Amino acid sequence: MSEMNEFLDIKKQLEEKLRALTTRAHEIDDDLSEPADDDWSENATESEDDEVLEKVGSMALDDIQKIKSALAKIEAGTYGICDRCHKKIPVKRLEALPYATTCIKCL
Ligand SMILES: [Zn+2]
Repeated sequence: MSEMNEFLDIKKQLEEKLRALTTRAHEIDDDLSEPADDDWSENATESEDDEVLEKVGSMALDDIQKIKSALAKIEAGTYGICDRCHKKIPVKRLEALPYATTCIKCL
């Protein structure tokens, strides 16, 4: 069994998550680029919302980066190897956290 087949399910999972996050990030982008309202009290509420949206947005972008690098590793055949000790990360851990880059010992 090749590495790619071994991680086929995880790859699918990552790709689905990436799609969902990308869609969400775009929706957040749209929300943020909407012109501000003229009413100042309305503005105050909106900028608070924007702060939350920006937080969610940067979290999504962070996750997108992690997922992309995990997918790149699957393609390169280096997925599931701990960044620190270079041992195999247990599949159970990868299933729980598909973009883990270290084993539990190296957390
Ligand atoms: Zn390790």
